[in-house]
Amino acid sequence: MGDGIERMRIVCAWCGSADVARDAWASWDVGKQDWVLVAVFDDGFCHACECERSLEERIGGSPGEGVD
Ligand SMILES: [Zn+2]
Repeated sequence: MGDGIERMRIVCAWCGSADVARDAWASWDVGKQDWVLVAVFDDGFCHACECERSLEERIGGSPGEGVD
């Protein structure tokens, strides 16, 4: 809070929800013993719309939103 860092948010271009995801590939890294993201694709999915949607970037956002 109050760190002055502008955080980018990815939201659904249709409904504005931040509950979105993108298609991606993860490959198993034997050295790290973990899945490593190797590719992120353009196809977006909105969990609020429950279907594929275009996603858009927003800088900043409303205070109190997206606090996990
Ligand atoms: Zn949506």
